[in-house]
Amino acid sequence: MITDTTRILLLDDDPFVLELMGHQLAELGFSRVTAMDQAAHALAVLETEPGAFSVILCDLQMPAMDGIEFVRHLVRLGYDKGLVLMSGENQRILHTAETLARAHRLQVLGALAKPVTLEQLRQVLACRPPREASSPRLVYGPQEVERGIAGGELMLHYQPKVEVATGAVVGFESLARWVHPRDGLVYPDQFITTAEEHGLMDALTRVVLGLAVAQARRWTDIGLDLHMAVNVSMDNLTSLEFADGVAGELKGAGMPPSALLLEVTESRLMKDPQASLDVLTRLSLKRIGLSIDDFGTGHSSLVQLRDIPFGELKVDRGFVHGAAHAPASRAILEASLDMARRLGMQTVAEGVEEREDWELLCGLDCDLAQGYFIARPMPAADVPAWVEAWENGRHLLNEG
Ligand code: C2E
Ligand code: CA
Ligand code: CA
Repeated sequence: MITDTTRILLLDDDPFVLELMGHQLAELGFSRVTAMDQAAHALAVLETEPGAFSVILCDLQMPAMDGIEFVRHLVRLGYDKGLVLMSGENQRILHTAETLARAHRLQVLGALAKPVTLEQLRQVLACRPPREASSPRLVYGPQEVERGIAGGELMLHYQPKVEVATGAVVGFESLARWVHPRDGLVYPDQFITTAEEHGLMDALTRVVLGLAVAQARRWTDIGLDLHMAVNVSMDNLTSLEFADGVAGELKGAGMPPSALLLEVTESRLMKDPQASLDVLTRLSLKRIGLSIDDFGTGHSSLVQLRDIPFGELKVDRGFVHGAAHAPASRAILEASLDMARRLGMQTVAEGVEEREDWELLCGLDCDLAQGYFIARPMPAADVPAWVEAWENGRHLLNEG
């Protein structure tokens, strides 16, 4: 909850703005405000004390380090508190910056055109960042992550994908969770990056694949005909044995390759693009499904789309949630769907969080949808009852 004791960082190169907004914040009852005119100074504080501020108000145009670069550093530092972007430039730039920040999973409380009014400030600071109430975010070190993976502490939650036209459930995406012996349930944003940076993704993916394939088998055994999606990062795809490993896993469980869909995301820099291309082609030859994940956020998505036999395209949630009111996001969403269709791919919109997101998709000819509006990720034990309840109620979906 944002309260009057919330520590706020006000970052703007314009001393007049710092002074004016300082007064405004004081008037709203915020007493713990730090004003800085250089992003580098703010970063120096955050490097040593990541939890120093609960809200950062940041100008986009600053001479030494601009707001976008600053936002990148916030992502790198794992900053997970509130962010308010401000700009004196046009609305479009502000919106683009907001979309970028959201695509990086930052908690954007608002994007304000300068000069900012007292009422606007009151409103953005009144909205509560969703994660603030939970425990502070920890980032785990490589040894601990490695131990967790090897020690069988990973489990999976499953989130449904449903057909937009009919509401039918077609499959589930598996999402890794770490049941930490001390900290309880830990989400992927707290360990995937560490795993990627320390060569642990192969081990992690092997465990996840094993769990997911075994679960898919259990669903088949109880008569649920659902595909299983597993996330893999490009890092996994540099070893030529990967395709055989996946095929072996499926065979061992007696599952057909078509039951599995690999959602591929580009992680950081690709070490060896040619090797990944070979592995993806081999997977495809084995009839294992391939989906290009987080579409719209990577750097070489279009090249990948041309060169790799993806059967499914997942538009990143940054272009889906709220697109009904954001013309630029909506344009990207529609263009992505159109392109995927022309390439003969199945389309999925992720991040369908609210009814208006769902309704927008209904008018857009998108095949599948996934998001909190349909269901949050759930443990395997909840899946059969959820599917039954959903199937019974889905005729209500497109009513009021
Ligand atoms: P992703 O592949 O884009 O997965 C979707 C993420 O969005 C999940 O977060 C899911 O809980 C969340 N989500 C689903 N619907 C909504 C919605 O309507 N609104 C919002 N705001 N969020 C929604 P989660 O489980 O925290 O996973 C985060 C990311 O971690 C995943 O993003 C994926 O890139 C990565 N990840 C998770 N499990 C694995 C894994 O087993 N292997 C690899 N390589 N990456 C994984
Ligand atoms: Ca995914
Ligand atoms: Ca995604």
